[in-house]
Amino acid sequence: MQTTRHFFPDFNAWLDRLPDTRVQEACTYDKRFLAWWGLQLYLLQLGSRRQLDYELRDGGPQVLDNLNRLAQTEQTTLPVHDTLDHFLGHVKLTGWERLRRQCVQRLLRMKVLDAARLLGRPVLLLDATGLICFHRRHCPYCLVQRHGKQTLYLHHVLEAKLLGPAGVVVSLGSEFIENADAADAKGKAAEEVKQDCELKAARRLLPRIKKEHPQLRFVLAVDNLYACGATFALAKQLNWSYVVTFKEGRTPALWREYQALLPACPENTLRRQWGDGRVQTFRWVSHLDYQDSDGRSWKLNALECTETTTDGPRHYFAWLTDLPVGRNTVEEIAQQGGRSRWKVENEGFNRQKNSGLNLEHVYSIDPENWKVYYVLLQIAFVLTQLLERGSLLRRLALECGRPFWRLFGSLKNVARRLLDSIRFVAWEESWFDAAVAKKLRIELDSS
Ligand SMILES: [Zn+2]
Repeated sequence: MQTTRHFFPDFNAWLDRLPDTRVQEACTYDKRFLAWWGLQLYLLQLGSRRQLDYELRDGGPQVLDNLNRLAQTEQTTLPVHDTLDHFLGHVKLTGWERLRRQCVQRLLRMKVLDAARLLGRPVLLLDATGLICFHRRHCPYCLVQRHGKQTLYLHHVLEAKLLGPAGVVVSLGSEFIENADAADAKGKAAEEVKQDCELKAARRLLPRIKKEHPQLRFVLAVDNLYACGATFALAKQLNWSYVVTFKEGRTPALWREYQALLPACPENTLRRQWGDGRVQTFRWVSHLDYQDSDGRSWKLNALECTETTTDGPRHYFAWLTDLPVGRNTVEEIAQQGGRSRWKVENEGFNRQKNSGLNLEHVYSIDPENWKVYYVLLQIAFVLTQLLERGSLLRRLALECGRPFWRLFGSLKNVARRLLDSIRFVAWEESWFDAAVAKKLRIELDSS
């Protein structure tokens, strides 16, 4: 049974330890209060910093009291949105990354995410996405792209998310894809500057994650961009494993070898029929030889899944892995390591872009601060998922005699109800009793 007991009572203590470099006299606001104020941007899916003023500052008789209860503070006024921007910058990116680490480590220690492990090991989903795009240079580190006469200045991020049960994905680390040697780029045309890229960012991010979580032997779940010697070597160095999407275009010789060997091992087949009419056929070949562009030799295992439905189209997926593939493991590797990768896109980036979380919005014009907002969003999204996928809302729905989706209609409505609540409902002191909270168990629905 996975529970998030002891998570929320300690959250304020973690906020207390945020490194805050504001000048003492200027600290009219407690950092716990400002941190919660910032988190509301995403918990309530307000979409922009200005909405904090409209929806919260001027928007409800209970906001100040409720936030004071949440942050255990005694503020007498609400801040303007620029105060938040200054505060977030003074805590700096490293401060917010530490807060994220504290959240993740607690969830790991409580074994909340264990049901999604692959062969007993945690699955790390890795994917990159575009964040902001300007027509003028925004900072010295922008990626530069030429499209005909147009030049675009971009910022991308590589995100590592830990796979949990019930569709939960927890942000573990982020690496911004940007040109670090900005001085070098001065006076040079875009095509002369060596642009940063996803694979280079992975070589910075993954060793850092290893350092922060030396005891965890992750399985990397990545797309076919990573089907190269550099990834295999990095995984070996970190003592991790990988499940990489296998496609003909990226590794054509290996693909041909796999296709040639498949008919030679007809016993490597597993058929699974589901109650809804779906049929999955798994096939695999072990110990394929692969020589990378640097002349290194690798032994790789390949597996595939063909899925047919009674009336729908046929789906085909294939992966490469260093995990042992056989009758007992092929299905788990395909599901947890292979198909789960889409979750980082669906639950992660798509949801974060196409909702009030507004991932691609420029929350701060300060060239350093927008990264802080990115990490703050990731922290808030962990809290949001614990609420949405946890047992408390389900229990509430049960008490009302309605299924969860009928109670709120959509996840967007959950955020709207929260907003109504913080504005108009006087939250009771007893709701924040740490002793009571410690007895409360939130389980993730892993069925
Ligand atoms: Zn920039």
